[in-house]
Amino acid sequence: MKGIKKLDLYESDLKIETSTQDIVWYDIRLSNQCNLKCRHCYPALSTSWGEDIKFLKETETGKLFTNNKIEYTYLHNDELDEKFISEIVNNSNFIQRIEFKGGEPLLKQNLMIKFLKSVNNLEKIQVDICSNGTIRMKDELTDTLNKCKLLNMAFSVEGSEVIFKYIRGISLNKIEPIIKEIHDNIKNIIVCFRITQMVYNIFEFPKVYDWIKKLNLTKLYDISIQNYVVFPEFLNVRTLPIEIRKEAQQILDVFIKSHPTDFTVKKLQKTLGESQLIEYFNLTKTFTRDLDNIRNTSFNDIEPKIGKYLL
Ligand code: SF4
Repeated sequence: MKGIKKLDLYESDLKIETSTQDIVWYDIRLSNQCNLKCRHCYPALSTSWGEDIKFLKETETGKLFTNNKIEYTYLHNDELDEKFISEIVNNSNFIQRIEFKGGEPLLKQNLMIKFLKSVNNLEKIQVDICSNGTIRMKDELTDTLNKCKLLNMAFSVEGSEVIFKYIRGISLNKIEPIIKEIHDNIKNIIVCFRITQMVYNIFEFPKVYDWIKKLNLTKLYDISIQNYVVFPEFLNVRTLPIEIRKEAQQILDVFIKSHPTDFTVKKLQKTLGESQLIEYFNLTKTFTRDLDNIRNTSFNDIEPKIGKYLL
């Protein structure tokens, strides 16, 4: 990737080995507690998003969430079940990888610490965390992760300053020092960035790469724009009219010249050229209007080129 220095690792460095029926990989969703309410998320994954449902109740968007039974539930627990702990201890010799998910997993650091401390061969274990980058890591968790074989730390960033703030409700300046601190304090870390593609950020990808480059991270492993919105499906880039997607493709045509090996950009280029998911487009507009109303924002003001299609 020209201009951005990435770690020279191969998939084989990250793969897990097993020839047994033992549990080697724990994939743990700690809770749906989250301090953000990103537009492409929904109440089942974020308690903050769940709070907004109260204000959306009488809107088409509110009915849509209710019809899909995506209701607000508060799933969290600060205690680890004793039976679960003993299962981990009994399996300690086989575990090779533990993945923590949320909500925002760093809101549950005490749970992570308890969980990791119940494993007795930390030096053989890869830990994966995907975070929104807004929460500082406690010293105790940093120390514990430093005992692990590897921390694969992914941060989600969907746009440069204005669009990022529109989508996530916070400023990029807030997450920058936290990402750097986590990067610097953990010796066996690899850092990845996950950019979710959606209707609001189709012009943003080169700008996000520029922002990542300026962070100057020495342990950067991967940047991917492979993630796309499955639900709500009306935020999928293919709901937008083809004219505006062609403009986004032109930006990517220039970008790919300096990033010729980035297959995730190539995949996005292909997606942008596919036929419109016309059946969802009215929902895209309704959702944008309803959420803008209750959050006192205006997508059309910040990105009129796309916004004019959503009015
Ligand atoms: S940070 Fe993640 S879990 Fe929280 S609202 Fe955003 S996408 Fe959802």
